[in-house]
Amino acid sequence: MQNNYFIEKQHCKFLKEETTISGYKKLEEIFENHNYKDYRWINASQIMVANWVRFKCIFGCVSYGKKGSCPPQVPSVEECRAFFGEYDQAVIFHIAKIVEKPEDRVAWSREVSKELLKVEREVFWAGYHKAFMLFMDECRLCNGCTGTREACVNKEDSRPGPESLAVDVFLTVRSVGYPIEVLSGYDQEMNRYAFLLVE
Ligand code: SF4
Repeated sequence: MQNNYFIEKQHCKFLKEETTISGYKKLEEIFENHNYKDYRWINASQIMVANWVRFKCIFGCVSYGKKGSCPPQVPSVEECRAFFGEYDQAVIFHIAKIVEKPEDRVAWSREVSKELLKVEREVFWAGYHKAFMLFMDECRLCNGCTGTREACVNKEDSRPGPESLAVDVFLTVRSVGYPIEVLSGYDQEMNRYAFLLVE
């Protein structure tokens, strides 16, 4: 027969799990209220950080040195790795889109980022004080970016994209079964991914 201590311990464990699950259900309601129905819960340790991503930012990306939420205005790769190490639970949002014209991408990205920010805020208000959203793209909240963190005109809302924080998005999303390919034209569907660090 189990002793009382063991039964109490089991009961507490059950209550904790039940609380966590019902807490996450609340978050899922938030996601779905904002029309994010395609998402996956992951352990934050599944977010892969890699040096090659930062090298691609430095050599080959036109935004390098021009955006307030992109390298070199962001922490080092090691600091990014340590940042993700401070979380257990995260969510990947899959956002698929075909744009008619290449220039439509900026306005679409801005609208998605604004909506993602609302999700981050509501998750924060739900009691998850560490909630932090990574946009699916570089920060495009303004028409013209001021180019540095210090001069950012929207510090409260600006967030980095996962690549800015050296996340290997290809490896990370493929590891949970999501599609992602290098695209050769704007007429192809984009599979973009935003990451919410929860707790
Ligand atoms: S909020 Fe505006 S100024 Fe700040 S990083 Fe984003 S685009 Fe640049």
